Amino acid sequence: MTPRIPARLTAPEPGWAISADVIVIGSGIAGLTAALRLRQRVDRVLLVTKTVLSEGSTQWAQGGIAAALDPADSAEEHLADTLVAGAGVCDEEAVRILVSEGPARVRGLVTLGTQFDRGPDGEISLTREGGHGRDRIAHAGGDATGKEISRALIASLGAALVAVKEDPGIEVLEHALVVDFLQGKDSRVCGVTLHVIGEGQMDGVGAAHARAVVLATGGIGQVYSATTNPSVATGDGVAAALRAGAVIADLEFVQFHPTVLWLGEGASGQQPLLSEAMRGEGAFLVDRDGVRFMTGVHPLVDLAPRDIVAKAIVARMAQTDADHVYLDARHLGKEFLENRFPSIVARCRELGFDPVSDLLPVAPAQHYASGGVRTDVVGRSSLAGLYACGEVSCTGVHGANRLASNSLLEGLVFAERIGADLARSLPAQRRPAVTDSRAMLLYDATIREHVAAAMTDGAGVLRSRESLGRTQGRLLELRLLTTDEPSTAAWEATNLHTVASFVVAAAGDREETRGSHWREDFPGPDDARWAGHLVGTLVPGELGTGVALEYQPLKTRAKESA
Ligand SMILES: Cc1cc2nc3c(=O)[nH]c(=O)nc-3n(C[C@H](O)[C@H](O)[C@H](O)COP(=O)(O)OP(=O)(O)OC[C@H]3O[C@@H](n4cnc5c(N)ncnc54)[C@H](O)[C@@H]3O)c2cc1C
Repeated sequence: MTPRIPARLTAPEPGWAISADVIVIGSGIAGLTAALRLRQRVDRVLLVTKTVLSEGSTQWAQGGIAAALDPADSAEEHLADTLVAGAGVCDEEAVRILVSEGPARVRGLVTLGTQFDRGPDGEISLTREGGHGRDRIAHAGGDATGKEISRALIASLGAALVAVKEDPGIEVLEHALVVDFLQGKDSRVCGVTLHVIGEGQMDGVGAAHARAVVLATGGIGQVYSATTNPSVATGDGVAAALRAGAVIADLEFVQFHPTVLWLGEGASGQQPLLSEAMRGEGAFLVDRDGVRFMTGVHPLVDLAPRDIVAKAIVARMAQTDADHVYLDARHLGKEFLENRFPSIVARCRELGFDPVSDLLPVAPAQHYASGGVRTDVVGRSSLAGLYACGEVSCTGVHGANRLASNSLLEGLVFAERIGADLARSLPAQRRPAVTDSRAMLLYDATIREHVAAAMTDGAGVLRSRESLGRTQGRLLELRLLTTDEPSTAAWEATNLHTVASFVVAAAGDREETRGSHWREDFPGPDDARWAGHLVGTLVPGELGTGVALEYQPLKTRAKESA
């Protein structure tokens, strides 16, 4: 039997306990959708979120949500574009589900009250983004799609809460950080430990027990120095799933958004994104000499898939010895820019750039994790009782590179599927949790910025054996900085370190260039060895934990739960 690592981080013993039928962790599009769907099927849903309901990547989404809504478009065409962007390693079955169920789910958002932008004919207006061969991106509030979808879901959740005041079907716990999963004898996930910054009964660390847990904790962006992700994106879900023994897949496929406003050397944390939709509307990239360098790189020119554009920018920056290039949107005009991209224009102006009159300095920054907790097409992870959806999951939809605006859709479609599967398969009883007396050491909160700097240095857009080795060495050094004091900052720093170590191990193993994974020392794809998934778990290692990886050809799936 494979030896196990401690399944939990050092934390105080739970001082209180609650229970529900299902616990949903995270309140982005995936978590909110799952909570609402589950509420129709079970009596008690507990929705736990790290800060406030509206916080997460969902509310930052700008471009929109992709779906073949135009009668001239088709699921087949959406499928074809997604497979091309995924560079040969998408799971076609999952993509088929995404594109065929997507339009109905987007219409469901309208029923819920989401106000998409509409054309003069009253139909939802659709735009185009990189890698899409048709106009199929529904947007809202110009460039504030995520905010509007999030608002509609939260409003609907609020309505559900009001309706069930006497018998609260969905209990919401805000400012509650999930630390680890509770597991039964057979490793079945049967709850979580969580730290609530509250008062009274539910203050400090507690235990929440349930018949199943849905993980919807979003991305890993804070693993890098510069990211478009908000501060809550510290990879907690992936790290906790790893500790519990779940299979993680494709984490080396980190998408870097090509056009993130460049705010100067040393700018760190969440950076402002200039949506791909700007290029969809005609903005283009130029280098410091004003040359349009995307011409001739790809047939879709500035609207090539993100990995192609990010790579072209990095190459151009190296050729011109610059740390950024420019996005030129000036020809789109004041009126159009202010109406179509009100939030982006306002944010740029706040930061001293006017898209109407200025070239906008841009450089790639971390944006999206295509990999995550490996699931099947109904959201089941490799551990019984644990489901995952949204950015934290790896359904196989994105392959080596997510197609623009497919992620909100993925969260929506697969959260719905989890609701349906749990309605059929939720066990009748909660299982008792077994306490693991061993706890994993915590790293000091101060390592966080060093982890991010090391990842940006050696595991960013461009990687090589040498650069990844440098990052790995730094991550090993940082293991010496431990602490005995549990705190939110130490749990997050430890999670970031775990996720970073996994990304580096996977990026080191995959000796080829594919999609968003660009190896300088292996410049092309190697279909004979690598046209599939790289899956892995955490195992005991010399310094506590290590990563065990395994190549999985397409079509074989991670071990599914019983
Ligand atoms: C700037 C930006 C623009 C984007 N634009 C688009 C776009 O136009 N179209 C598109 O399809 N995608 C876009 N994306 C990607 C997309 O927004 C995300 O992939 C998607 O919203 C993820 O949704 P989610 O529900 O999985 O996670 P999130 O929306 O990130 O929500 C995660 C939730 O989990 C909570 N959480 C995290 N850790 C814990 C913990 N330990 N305990 C409790 N709760 C926790 C968080 O607080 C949060 O509530 C964009 C992303 C960014 C950052």
